Amino acid sequence: MFRAALPRAAPRASLRACGPKAVSSTFISPQCFGLAAQNAATPLIPVRDHDLVIIGGGVAGYVAAIKAGQQGLKTACIEKRGTLGGTCLNVGCIPSKSLLNNSHLYHQILHDTKKRGIEVGDVKLNLAQMLKAKQTSVDGLTKGVEFLLKKNGVDYIKGAGSFVDANTIKVDLLDGGEQTVRGKNILIATGSESTPFPGLNIDEKRVITSTGALELQEVPKKMVVIGGGIIGLEMASVWSRLGAEVTVVEFLGQIGGPGMDAEIAKQAQKILAKQGIKFKTNTKVVKGDDSGATVSLNVEAAKGGKEETLDADVVLVAIGRRPYTDGLNIENVGIDKDDRGRLVIDQEFRTKVPHIRVVGDVTFGPMLAHKAEEEAVAAIEYIKTGHGHVNYAAIPSVMYTHPEVAWVGQNEAEVKASGVKYNVGSFPFSANSRAKTNLDTEGVVKFIADAETDRILGVHIIGPGAGEMIAEATLAIEYGASSEDVARTCHAHPTLSEAFKEAAMATYSKPIHF
Ligand code: FAD
Ligand code: NAD
Repeated sequence: MFRAALPRAAPRASLRACGPKAVSSTFISPQCFGLAAQNAATPLIPVRDHDLVIIGGGVAGYVAAIKAGQQGLKTACIEKRGTLGGTCLNVGCIPSKSLLNNSHLYHQILHDTKKRGIEVGDVKLNLAQMLKAKQTSVDGLTKGVEFLLKKNGVDYIKGAGSFVDANTIKVDLLDGGEQTVRGKNILIATGSESTPFPGLNIDEKRVITSTGALELQEVPKKMVVIGGGIIGLEMASVWSRLGAEVTVVEFLGQIGGPGMDAEIAKQAQKILAKQGIKFKTNTKVVKGDDSGATVSLNVEAAKGGKEETLDADVVLVAIGRRPYTDGLNIENVGIDKDDRGRLVIDQEFRTKVPHIRVVGDVTFGPMLAHKAEEEAVAAIEYIKTGHGHVNYAAIPSVMYTHPEVAWVGQNEAEVKASGVKYNVGSFPFSANSRAKTNLDTEGVVKFIADAETDRILGVHIIGPGAGEMIAEATLAIEYGASSEDVARTCHAHPTLSEAFKEAAMATYSKPIHF
C-alpha cells in the first residue's frame, strides 16, 4: 500500500534498487532512503513504514492516531514526553481542573457552609494529598490514551522525532538508541510552550509557568501573576483559594484574554476581586529581578507612567503560549512558519509539502484542546476521503474559575465592528430558580443575535455551570439557530439552563421571569 502510493518526492528508484522485501522489513539499508551519504558507515538501521507518522502525542496527535487507526491507516505516533496526552493531560487542562475543583471545594467548605445549615469542624488543607489526587487523574487518563492507541493498532514510539527528509523521521528513543520511521503522510502535532518573560529565569519554583503552578509544594504567601488571561486567572483562583495573597498584573484594560466579551470580563473581575484576588489592569510588567530573596517586578501604566515595584515569593509568568517546533528540523523539508512561529498550512491542514499536515497549537487558531481534536479528526478525514470539516466559528471557550465563564461565537465588540445590526438579550442567574436553590446566583447569560434574521451570533455566560451550558449555544450556532429557536425549545425545570432559554427569550421578545 505504501509503495504503490508513494508521492513524487519519495525516492522510488532507490526503493526499487533495494528490492520489494526491504520496503516492509523492519531493518533496512540506509541507502534505501537516501541516507547513504551521512550514514554510509552504519550497516543497518531500523526503519518502519507507515501510511501515517504523527509527531507529537498530545490531544491533536493522539486523537489523530486513534482516528487513523479506526480508518485502517497503518499509523505511528511519536511522543517524547514519556506519556501520551501532551500539555493538556499532563500539565494543562486536566491537572489544572483537578486543582480548580478541589481548591473550590476547600474554599467553599471554609467560607460557604454555615448559611446552608452545615456546621463543619476543623478544616485543614492537605496540599500533598490534593497534588496526589491531581496526579491520580492525570495518570489514569494518560494510561487510558495509551490503551486506546494499542486498541486501534497504533505504533506508539517513545522518543523525539525530527525530519530527515519529507517522508523520513528519525526518532531519538527515550530508552536510548535511534529508530527511523517512514510515512506516506506525516502529521505534525508538536503543540506549544509557555512564552518566557525576558529577564526572568524560569526555575518552576519561584519563577514559574503554569507547569510549576500545578506543582507548588507549599502555598506561597505572596504571588504575582503576569498576565490576566485564562491561565493567569485559573491559577490565581487556585492559589488564592488555598491562602496565597495573589495580584494579577494585566497589560490590557480587561482580563480574560482574547475573545471574552467586555461586559462579562468586567463582571468576572468584580467577582474574582470579591474572592480576594487583586488586579492591576492597564499595567505592564517592564522588568523582573529574581536575584534577591523575593522576586521583584517593575510595573508601570500600560501607556507609560509612574513605575511601581511588586515583590512576591512566587511569580507566575502567564503571558501566552507559543508554537513549539524545537528539534523538529523542519528546515530539512522547507515548511514555512509565520512571524509568530506558527506552521503555515492551507484549509486542508497541508503545508507546502502536501503530504505533511499540521494540527493543534503549533498552527493557527485558538490554543484549545477541543480545537486540536476537531482538527485532528478532520485532517485524517482529508487524508482518507479528501473531505473534512472544522467550523472555527463554533469553537467554545471556557474559563474554569468560580463562577465559570464560557462563550462561543462573536463578542459584542466584534459584532459592532463588523457593522451588523444586532440585538442583545440577557438573563441573570439571580432570577433563575435552580441558582437560587443552590445559593449560587452570580452571573448572567447574554445572547447576541442578528437584528434582521435573529440568527445567533454569539453567546456569553458567566455563572454556575457555564462550561456545560455553552455546549447548547455551540450546537445552536453550528445549526444556524435563531434566538427564537432556542427560546421555543422546552428546557427542564428547575435547571440552570432555563437561564439560557430565558436569555434567548429576552433577545427576540421578553423573558418570563425577569
Ligand atoms: P500539546 O498538548 O502541547 O502536545 C504536543 C506534544 O508533542 C507534547 O506532548 C510534546 O512532548 C510532543 N512533541 C513536541 N515535539 C516533539 C518531537 N519532536 N517529537 C516527539 N514529540 C514531540 N485547553 C482547553 O481546551 N481546555 C482547558 O481547560 C485547557 N487548560 C489548559 C491549562 C493549562 C495550564 C495549559 C498550559 C493549557 C491548557 N489548555 C486548555 C490548552 C491545551 O492544553 C492545548 O490547546 C492542547 O494541549 C494542544 O494540543 P496539541 O496536541 O496541539 O499540543
Ligand atoms: P492569553 O494570551 O490568554 O493571556 C495572556 C495575557 O497576558 C494577555 O491578556 C496579555 O495582555 C497579558 N500580557 C502579556 N504581556 C504582559 C505584560 N508584560 N504585562 C502584563 N500583562 C501582559 O495566554 P495564557 O493565559 O497564558 O494562555 C495561553 C493559552 O492557553 C491560551 O491560548 C488559552 O486558550 C490556553 N488555555 C486555555 C484554558 C481553558 O480553555 N480553560 C486554560 C488555560 C490555558
